[in-house]
Amino acid sequence: MMIIKISNLSEGIHHLEFDENVKNIGIDEPFFGNVNVKVELSKLHNQIILQADISANASFICDRCTKDFNTVLSSNYKMVYLFGSEPEDNNDISVTFLPMDTDKIILDEDVRDYAVLSVPMKKLCKEDCKGLCVNCGKDLNEGDCGCLKNQIDSRWLPLMELKDKINNN
Ligand SMILES: [Zn+2]
Ligand SMILES: [Zn+2]
Repeated sequence: MMIIKISNLSEGIHHLEFDENVKNIGIDEPFFGNVNVKVELSKLHNQIILQADISANASFICDRCTKDFNTVLSSNYKMVYLFGSEPEDNNDISVTFLPMDTDKIILDEDVRDYAVLSVPMKKLCKEDCKGLCVNCGKDLNEGDCGCLKNQIDSRWLPLMELKDKINNN
């Protein structure tokens, strides 16, 4: 667990860093290995402002070329912790209320949520991945397959086959 003890924390700015296995914060595929969280925390007498920068390793299959690739997903969030009871009309997700006697902040849940949100809709091994040829299936990142050149010729293929048939009869 990623825990920040706040009971004896002095006022001012603090820097902390965590390395935690993704499994320990409840996330699995596509994530693997450790998630790294760099925290900057500033404490004033009745509030704590926390800025977290998350980087996590993830493994995907490229949407274009179908190759496996690993990448580092980065995300960040800011959370304001206020000591005191939570007002009923609080619907600000970036503000968390802490009971006066709270002695620690646990980051696991927020880190997990923001890491999951950082998974891109489109998974590409690289920005300009050329993908696979729709005709022959060759990975075009490894070079041209020549299909484009033959396309014009292949348009005549059915006609040529027909001509062959007629000639054979
Ligand atoms: Zn690709
Ligand atoms: Zn091709």
